[in-house]
Amino acid sequence: MDSAVFLSFAKSASLLLSLCLLQGFIWKRWPNREPAGLVLSGLLYGFICIVGMEAPIVVAPGVIFDFRSVIVGLAGAFGGARVGAIAALLAGGYRAWLGGTGAPVGVAVVVVSFLIGLAFHFLRRQGRLQLNVFWLFGLGLVIHLVVAYLFTYLPENVVDRVLDTIVLPMVIVASPATAVLGYVLLVIERGIRNEIALAESERKLRDLAQCSSDWFWEMGPDLRFTAFSEGAAEVTGVPVDFHVGKTRQELAADDVNSEHWRRHLDDLNNRRPFKNFQFLRRGHDGRTQYILTSGVPVFSSDGEFKGYRGTGSDITDRIRLEKTLRDREASLQAIFDNTPICMNLKDTEGRYVFLNKPYEEWLGHSAEEIVGKKASEFLENAEEVNNLTAAERKVLETGEVFEGEIQVTRPNGETYDRILIKFPVKADDGEIIGLGTVAIDITERNRAAEALRQAMVQAENASKSKSDFLASMSHELRTPLNAELGYGQMLELDLEKTLTATQKEYVKNIISSGGLVLELINDLLDLARIESDRVSVFLETFAPHEVVEECISRMALFADKNKVTIELAPCQPDGVSIISDRLRLRQILINLISNAIKYNKPDGRVHVTCSVLDDGFFRVSIADTGIGIAAANYDRLFKLFHRATEDPMHAVEGTGVGLFVSKKLADRLGARIEFESREGAGSTFWIDVPLASNDEVLIWTDDLRVGVDAIDKDHQIIFSLTNAVSTETIETDDLGAVIEEMIDYTSYHFRREEAIMEVCGYPDLAGHKERHHELERHVQELAAEWRARGSTEILHRLKSFLRNWWSRHIVDVDTTIAKHAAGFETEIEERLAKIPGRNGGSRR
Ligand code: ADP
Repeated sequence: MDSAVFLSFAKSASLLLSLCLLQGFIWKRWPNREPAGLVLSGLLYGFICIVGMEAPIVVAPGVIFDFRSVIVGLAGAFGGARVGAIAALLAGGYRAWLGGTGAPVGVAVVVVSFLIGLAFHFLRRQGRLQLNVFWLFGLGLVIHLVVAYLFTYLPENVVDRVLDTIVLPMVIVASPATAVLGYVLLVIERGIRNEIALAESERKLRDLAQCSSDWFWEMGPDLRFTAFSEGAAEVTGVPVDFHVGKTRQELAADDVNSEHWRRHLDDLNNRRPFKNFQFLRRGHDGRTQYILTSGVPVFSSDGEFKGYRGTGSDITDRIRLEKTLRDREASLQAIFDNTPICMNLKDTEGRYVFLNKPYEEWLGHSAEEIVGKKASEFLENAEEVNNLTAAERKVLETGEVFEGEIQVTRPNGETYDRILIKFPVKADDGEIIGLGTVAIDITERNRAAEALRQAMVQAENASKSKSDFLASMSHELRTPLNAELGYGQMLELDLEKTLTATQKEYVKNIISSGGLVLELINDLLDLARIESDRVSVFLETFAPHEVVEECISRMALFADKNKVTIELAPCQPDGVSIISDRLRLRQILINLISNAIKYNKPDGRVHVTCSVLDDGFFRVSIADTGIGIAAANYDRLFKLFHRATEDPMHAVEGTGVGLFVSKKLADRLGARIEFESREGAGSTFWIDVPLASNDEVLIWTDDLRVGVDAIDKDHQIIFSLTNAVSTETIETDDLGAVIEEMIDYTSYHFRREEAIMEVCGYPDLAGHKERHHELERHVQELAAEWRARGSTEILHRLKSFLRNWWSRHIVDVDTTIAKHAAGFETEIEERLAKIPGRNGGSRR
């Protein structure tokens, strides 16, 4: 082998080295086998082959030798199909273009090298071989042995020379050359891969650190900060420079002598890593922030301490939020602890999570003892525990609130009544995460209610006794008094004039005082009857005018005595008839006229007028020119024993019973009494009595008496309430309230009547209840319709329905109760006393 061959090898070697450098550049630029990188690599290999073929070893004219086999083989082995194919195409093409007798073998060499390189590439990809220097040598050897064989196909005139001069040096040089060049490429490839992997892992680390913290920091060996990442300034607003050169304790706003700080400084001084150290830092503007930091010591490869490196986060918002939550929790705890109601929270397994002070006291265990435990672990009463957990299970299963009254026995044997409310505690998404309990002690309330019930029974008994006493006493007094008055009148009328003037004066006084007492007794008697609901009403149809005139003529003398004139306006129209109780109406009118005279001024007037109203009533108005009534007294005027005139100048005899009795009687007669007045100018009282043609008014007569006092009383009240439902006398707003009260009292009455029926074992209680229910439903419907449309026609329908229903129901059904109730009076009384009062109380 001559020196030209080695010179040519040397040239080729430098070419191959530049190939390596450029290939390295392409790999770096397109690390992921991007098409551009592959094409460029192919072109590079091909181009180097072409350059090599430009300065070949010319073995014979047209027979050249160069390193294309090495390059194309490596292109296939490293670059794969696409790179190898481009390189082979360029090299083979060029060789063909150069021509000469060796051209076919030259092209075949390119193709064979490419295919062998490609085979290595696939074996490498499949992990069957590792591209190391031995395999690369093997690659070179295989290629060049095959190439050597191909040389035998050269033209006969050159084949011997080629085999003599080229084959041996080629195999000896080109195989290691393939190994060396391949190895250089391998090193470059590995280097680039490592570089990429390093950059990737660095990026990964940075991303992870950034996710778990706000910034990075570094400290020198003197434990002073040397660097901060930008995040520090961005997140906290404190410039990086402010920290640099300072130790952590110099930045602290909390007590660096605390145990917590002392431990941290100890870690630093002993070069130990630390995790999640929390401290308060004062910034450049004096503002403080809570910082959470972790760090690791840094040592050089020879073990020298270089400082610390770590991450930091601003947790001020979190700490403040936690504090707000703690404060809020403390406030809620204070509220819960200071309410007289026992409260607790359990998890879904029934373990206590929270209990307030009253609950702790009630249980006799502290929260520390209870939290985390189930009731069964400390409650002794098994039945109680079972009941509770059954109720709790239901709440947890259905998500519905449980409410009930229970009686619990304390270990000391005392029993308590409690209202128990158990409710589900739900998370944001509606999932049930616990169970709350509120227990209200109602032992005292129940005791008070029982005491009140007893008191009511006693009061009702007392009131009944009082009414009975009044009724009998009034009778007892009236008889002798009438006799005395009779004798007095006989003395007064004694025609033989045996009495002296003084005696006559005395007799007159006796008669007038006796008259007053009789009036008082009559009032009391009426009162007693009304209070015990024993007023009898005898309804008849009659012309009202004659009663009015009769009352006026009866009061004429009294008016004269009081120097008051009574006038009766001509009553229009004639031929009117009303339905009422003549005696009771007279009693009311006399009371009103006598008041108009009594509370008049000297030389005053009383003006009586009659008129027929559009809503089926006959009105008698009694207007006076008297002292009038102060507005403050309006509400109390019809109350028992109320007397508005306390002015001694107008001291008038009276008891405060008249208007009360009149109102009660009017209610019973389906009539209405009202008034208007101006203090100092006079008053007008009027009574509206139903016309005989008025079929809407309900009048309770003795025929409707059921025979059970409570029921009769209720019926009377319901009748008056129903009569009060009238658009003529009430403002629309009040009318709604009156209807409500009527409905409310009706259902209250039904509860009472049904309770009575239960007590006395009434046979058709269910059927009766159903009738009650039907009435309630229908009345509710009509009321709702009226509320929606507000028409008077609906009110008329409502009243006619009630009138028909009640009169039929009472006569046909309710009257049958009495025979069952007989003998159960005490039980009925006791049972009725237990029925709670009506909502909102009575307007009456
Ligand atoms: P009495 O007249 O016995 O006191 P009433 O029940 O009849 O009792 O009347 C109650 C109160 O109403 C009277 O005390 C009086 O103050 C007032 N009053 C009744 N009618 C009139 C009236 N026409 N003018 C002024 N005040 C009246």
